[in-house]
Amino acid sequence: MTAHRDFSVVIPLYNEEENVRPLYEALKPVLDKTGKEYEILFVDDGSSDRTLPQLEDISKIDKKVKVLSFRRNFGQTAAFAAGFDYAQGDVIITMDGDLQNDPADIPRMLDAIQGYDLVSGWRKNRKDPFLSRKFPSRVANWLIGRVTGVRLHDYGCSLKAYKKDVVKNLRLYGEMHRFIPAVANWYGVRVAELETTHHPRLRGKSKYGISRTVKVFLDLITVKFLQSFSTKPIQFFGPIGLLSTTAGFFISFYLAVQKIFFGTPIGGRPLLLLGVLLIIVGIQLIGMGLLGEMLVRVYHESQRKPIYALKKVIGADSEQA
Ligand code: UDP
Ligand code: MG
Repeated sequence: MTAHRDFSVVIPLYNEEENVRPLYEALKPVLDKTGKEYEILFVDDGSSDRTLPQLEDISKIDKKVKVLSFRRNFGQTAAFAAGFDYAQGDVIITMDGDLQNDPADIPRMLDAIQGYDLVSGWRKNRKDPFLSRKFPSRVANWLIGRVTGVRLHDYGCSLKAYKKDVVKNLRLYGEMHRFIPAVANWYGVRVAELETTHHPRLRGKSKYGISRTVKVFLDLITVKFLQSFSTKPIQFFGPIGLLSTTAGFFISFYLAVQKIFFGTPIGGRPLLLLGVLLIIVGIQLIGMGLLGEMLVRVYHESQRKPIYALKKVIGADSEQA
């Protein structure tokens, strides 16, 4: 089970029947030429066309090819996650299955990863439509860089290389694969960027449209929140809650003084509503922060997950750590 490989190539495929063969034929000579021990992991993401039978045929003649077949379409992120779980290489390379990424870039990725933990491809001359793809992507990359502090030109490029321990520590959800560099940065990994070649899609259809923009935005909020507050949720909800409650308290206090000492009727005043609202919302926010604190403890203590990431332990008895 734990055979050693120098590197693994993980490729998700969803209804790519026309691309399977050309992809394999483009990939194979490049990988052989590296002279290293490798494996190819094709992940069939619940395709309804002939993608799977074709992959099976290839795996029969090529022992370096492994195929993971999903029961249904779980999405590209899940496909990467499965590939990461099964990959045995010291380095793991991911790429698209539609030949938009160029297999010829792989040897350069392998070289580049030497001094780093993660190398992210940058499709400098991206061959996709401008308005529906390149423009939203440019905005997204800028925003993700600003918000997460990990500035990359091209988060969306599937061609990436990882050291094994980076992906083995990752837990991916939803459509999070594009945020891996930002998430991995939490662990303190060294990230590099490498210009890669990009081709237009010649066969088959793209699986995404403009609606992805909204999803990316929502995922970004999640990533930012987890990055900053996943081990201290009260620090996020608490200050807003306190501010809201305090403001509500002063408003209510002011109204109470008016009512009690000056007999002014306050029943019809919008300010009363605001004061009550702020107090309730504030208390709820603090409550949410406290609930979050309990969740953090349940999560980390039930699964013995540390709240830190070690690079190594130096000194006596370090083996057992
Ligand atoms: N893909 C997948 N599951 C999905 C959607 C896409 O495995 O639910 C694969 C797809 O087959 C391709 C890669 O992910 O190999 C990138 O998809 P696509 O080319 O449609 O994205 P684009 O290049 O248009 O951003
Ligand atoms: Mg594509």
